[in-house]
Amino acid sequence: MENKPRRKTLTTLAGAPIADNQNSLTAGPRGPLLMQDVQLLQQMQRFNRERIPERVVHAKGSGAYGTFTVTNDVTRYTRAAFLSEVGKETEVFVRFSTVAGERGAADAERDVRGFAVKFYTEEGNWDLVGNNTPVFFVRDPHKFQMFIHTQKRHPRTNLRDMNMQWDFWSLCPESLHQVTILFSDRGIPRTLRHMNGYGSHTYSLINDRGERVWCKFHFKTQEGHAFYTDAEAAEVIGQDRESHQRDLFYAIEEGNYPRWTFCIQVMTDEQARDFRWNPFDLTKVWPHAEFPLIEVGVLELNRNPENYFAEVEQAAFEPSSLVPGIGPSPDKMLQARLMSYADTHLYRIGPNYHQLPVNQPRACEAHTYIHRDGPMFMPRDSGHPNYFPNSYDDAPKEAPEYREPDWDLGSVTVARHDSRVGHDDYTQAGNLYRLFDEAQQQRLAENIARSLGQAREDIQRRQLAHFHRADPDYGRRVAVALGLPPETAEAAANEHAVSS
Ligand code: NDP
Repeated sequence: MENKPRRKTLTTLAGAPIADNQNSLTAGPRGPLLMQDVQLLQQMQRFNRERIPERVVHAKGSGAYGTFTVTNDVTRYTRAAFLSEVGKETEVFVRFSTVAGERGAADAERDVRGFAVKFYTEEGNWDLVGNNTPVFFVRDPHKFQMFIHTQKRHPRTNLRDMNMQWDFWSLCPESLHQVTILFSDRGIPRTLRHMNGYGSHTYSLINDRGERVWCKFHFKTQEGHAFYTDAEAAEVIGQDRESHQRDLFYAIEEGNYPRWTFCIQVMTDEQARDFRWNPFDLTKVWPHAEFPLIEVGVLELNRNPENYFAEVEQAAFEPSSLVPGIGPSPDKMLQARLMSYADTHLYRIGPNYHQLPVNQPRACEAHTYIHRDGPMFMPRDSGHPNYFPNSYDDAPKEAPEYREPDWDLGSVTVARHDSRVGHDDYTQAGNLYRLFDEAQQQRLAENIARSLGQAREDIQRRQLAHFHRADPDYGRRVAVALGLPPETAEAAANEHAVSS
């Protein structure tokens, strides 16, 4: 006998069968409607509540599941269980995003890309909430929200505004390194598969002897780097605003799984004290020659989510989700993000966002006394007792073996330490410029000029001074691309005192 699939009956939310799903209940064929048409009312009410607040940053995203496989022994640096042996596999979920764009923004816009990875480890979820750049625009979190305002719409015109963007950047020279990366070729990756990811912040690693080192994380694309020029990107966006989502989704559907090599850089505390830059400054990289990349494993994305909203839109990454063996560092930006990411999920998704399938631990269970009730609470057990300490043998207990080593801060002064003075904002931006070949330098200058040219003239001159200080050729090239005499940048540098 033929095995026919069972007919699925359409139902209400409560599971009752629906006989007619196309006609409203009316008094006569011309109406009016009846209040008792709960089917229609339910549909209208649910529709009105389909959106959750969009992320203030990283609103437009693409996500996929995958596998992380350890390829090298790093147990001398970290006790993290998921890194404990070569060949060990851990399930991951990755969400890529643009930073400034809204939910409807085009994928191929010039922007930093978010590169957030959730490792479902047996000792809890580890979220490495990174970007596709190794540095950031500011080093003090007090400037973060202000910076993001410059990337969003002008309060009056409701338009993106190059004037606000360059006004802020030209007044914050610590942004120069990241600005140089953003306007370089890597500022518009061709696909999400053709770009690196970086933890960007400095973190700490702790081994099973309780020894701590400082660490930076890198995901190096195995697909190679590929980019769009501004002109190519404009053409792509004209045809397809979802080019990155489309590429990633179908690459995975077709079994063309993207891979990245996961690496660390390691610095001892002693090296950190003597290093010529503040190793906890998010606007700086650690030169590869001095702190070589150490391979750790391979990240492969190999499964698309079944439901975009449930798994990608409701995914919640927070740098505060750390696991034993991986910890924070004094990096001021990281310290602020430890609070602000979890806080935004509480607002955006609600107090029980941890319990959604994509956010739950998958290789272990969470047992906590702090997570009580609230909207949409879905407990796995009765939750009794709901206080600590308690006298119940089967209730969750502390695990003193996970105690972290003390953190010696030495003799410090509490103050609003000025993050603008005493920093070299130019050498690393200049190093990057000098690393580019002539064609890359020229594209960089022209990309900048297309944007900076829309800002006020005094702002253009202030920013030209920064380019000149990074490298005189950088300053000249941008000045010429702006249609100004080549010596304008040097003259501007003489006019504007160095703020650091
Ligand atoms: P290194 O020669 O040791 O490092 C150069 C690194 O620059 C490369 O490994 C590569 O990083 C990155 N790079 C190469 N080409 C480009 C490009 N077209 N656009 C952006 N990045 C590129 O020198 P340093 O470590 O002193 O770094 C020099 C500059 O390179 C830095 O100031 C920084 O701007 C940039 N950079 C450095 C990174 C680091 O961790 N040291 C990481 C990324 C950029 P990758 O291998 O990650 O692709």
